[in-house]
Amino acid sequence: MDQDLLAALDIGGTKIAGALVDGEGRVLLRARRPTPAREPGGTVMGAVAEVLGELRAAPQWGRVAAVGVGSAGPVNAGRGTVSPVNIPGWRDYPLVAGVRERVGELPVTLVGDGVAITAAEHWQGAARGRDNVLCMVVSTGVGGGLVLGGRLHPGPTGNAGHIGHLSVELGGEPCPCGARGCVEGFASGPNIARRALADGWRPGPDGAAGAAAVAAAARAGDPVATASFERAARALAASIAATAALVEIDLAVIGGGVAQAGEVLFAPLRRTLKEYATLSFVRHLEVVPAGTGTDAGLVGAAAACREVLGRPE
Ligand SMILES: [Zn+2]
Repeated sequence: MDQDLLAALDIGGTKIAGALVDGEGRVLLRARRPTPAREPGGTVMGAVAEVLGELRAAPQWGRVAAVGVGSAGPVNAGRGTVSPVNIPGWRDYPLVAGVRERVGELPVTLVGDGVAITAAEHWQGAARGRDNVLCMVVSTGVGGGLVLGGRLHPGPTGNAGHIGHLSVELGGEPCPCGARGCVEGFASGPNIARRALADGWRPGPDGAAGAAAVAAAARAGDPVATASFERAARALAASIAATAALVEIDLAVIGGGVAQAGEVLFAPLRRTLKEYATLSFVRHLEVVPAGTGTDAGLVGAAAACREVLGRPE
């Protein structure tokens, strides 16, 4: 039988998802466990093993050609280790070795989750057919990845495109990463909500105080909520323009929960991008919403190992 399937793992601070993915990017079978994020490293690996066990028990497992792993970062693809900020039990944790132990001879590829989502967008989403793209995930944090010269560009350790920690305000607020004025401090969902609350926005009767509630208020015309999205958009615009100037991308794809705000985010983003992307070779930079949905992490993990295997389109 053909080895026409890929196994994918998407590991985050909340859930560990696994899937078998076919050559068209369709998810055939899934498995999922909550991440025991506060437990020791071995316990977290146990949950990964359970997900892999479920996939291996499937009759289609014999068709699997390779295993792709996308993990919350930082990751070290060269060493096969991960140190996800939200999983304290994993510091330089040998995730690839742990996966290999359970999948036999199959090749295993590790990438950061931002790179995985970029691979998904390039394969099946809004970056399809495009050669020079920045993909961003704007959610609880802000991550991203790059397609350069038509190929995924994970970088030596699998973290390239980590745009959330580009500084856009030199003397800005300290960031948990240790730097100051990072994009994430303006544009992540929790930071959009935090700034709106600090500036006097108050949640409605349902008590919801997240970025989605701020987006709803902005849509209804609340000026403080609107201003918080404007700040987020401006930070994103500055970082996208900087990336374009540096490596000549002509498309930025924005996904993640905050992108669900739609025009509340995209309208000021397109407007402010014109203020920052001024050089002749970046002026035509486009910004579009992501095309892949909730399976992007899994499809991306599969896409990343597909690129490594060097399969044709
Ligand atoms: Zn930072």
